[in-house]
Amino acid sequence: MANYQKIKGTQDFYDLSAKKLTYIEDFASEVAESYGCKHIITPIFEATEVFVKNVGEDSDVVSKEMYTFLDKGHRSITLRPEGTAAIARSFIENKMYANPGLTKYYYYGPMFRHERPQVGRYREFNQFGIEVYGNASYLLDVDVILSAYNIFNGLGIKNVTIKINSIGNFESRQNYSKALKEYFKDYVETMCDDCKRRINTNPMRILDCKVDKEHVALKNVPCINDYLTLESKEYFENVLRVLDEFKVPYIVDYNLVRGLDYYTDTVFEFIINSDDELNGLALGGGGKYASMISSMCGIDVPGIGFAFGLERISAVMDSQNIWKNILNEKDNVVVMGLDEKSKLESLKVADELRKAGIEAQIDYNSCTMKAQFKLADRLKSKYIVIIGEEERLSEIYTVKNTELKTQEKVEKNKLIDYLRG
Ligand code: AMP
Repeated sequence: MANYQKIKGTQDFYDLSAKKLTYIEDFASEVAESYGCKHIITPIFEATEVFVKNVGEDSDVVSKEMYTFLDKGHRSITLRPEGTAAIARSFIENKMYANPGLTKYYYYGPMFRHERPQVGRYREFNQFGIEVYGNASYLLDVDVILSAYNIFNGLGIKNVTIKINSIGNFESRQNYSKALKEYFKDYVETMCDDCKRRINTNPMRILDCKVDKEHVALKNVPCINDYLTLESKEYFENVLRVLDEFKVPYIVDYNLVRGLDYYTDTVFEFIINSDDELNGLALGGGGKYASMISSMCGIDVPGIGFAFGLERISAVMDSQNIWKNILNEKDNVVVMGLDEKSKLESLKVADELRKAGIEAQIDYNSCTMKAQFKLADRLKSKYIVIIGEEERLSEIYTVKNTELKTQEKVEKNKLIDYLRG
């Protein structure tokens, strides 16, 4: 017999685990909408170059983790590993830059990266994110960071540290890359093959190499802050000053460069502090990308965004025992039919209850009390509506409240009000 198993690094979500992801999506969407963001849905797969050009050829995501294949027309297609580049493609293709003012979108959905599966790391995972185009003010940076922070707080998540850094504008990064090249040249022989290549192509990527992260060379790396232009330095100071105004706790981490090439100036990550295996995981991250749109289409529109992983958020909410206050099971009703005609009546009653927003179930097979009580027991139904011949003819039903262990006669046309309490 065939052995049907899910692909390594993927997960099935059903019942509660699915409900949790939907809850987070809905909650985050509501917060995003309060910031004026609209919903955007883009394709799950894109032309490969959408990601290669923008996320960066030397990033781990592009060089090692993408699910890329040739389609039947021999076009190179990639299952999206992240949202920002794909949404930028949509922003340009749909000429959203022609809209006056800011363009703000939120998105959620599955992303795909061929990583080694481990705690909080999957090959298919779900992200929620926000992208804002059209303004380069530090106030917008803070606003976007606050929106993510408010989502975590609103969900009830505690012990999140915001790590923040500035990787500067183009000129700052050029200065810094030069300094890194000089610094790493004494170590490069003992580093991994990717880093050997990166020293020439993109030395900043060495800072988030997963292989060499404990390498001695990474202990005393030049600090990016020393290479920022005056303009970038001032910008960063302003971001921090306004975060202080909001009393948002953050840690400046000069080694935070983020794994994706499109960022400029502000970058940030939300790290969870926990006494279990989730400790230190990034729940989300993001940053500003001043020149991604112009490098794609020549039109100069700055952008900023963040994304977080729904599976990690859900796991943290498990670990912090938050779900129990949120996912209260709604009451449900079993409608019993004690003979064939009453069974049909029970289906009609269930239909009316459902239209009124009440979860109602029936036993499709049996007319015996025993089987139907068993169903109500299994579903932990609060109410049981009993319809036998007498009830059906009189249109007065017997209703049991299983919690109070009481039983009352209720007229058919008063049933919905009665069950709503
Ligand atoms: P990134 O796009 O790499 O900045 O990731 C943003 C967020 O997505 C991370 O902070 C995680 O919460 C989540 N994430 C990224 N990669 C994975 C993965 N392989 N499995 C689960 N969640 C992930």
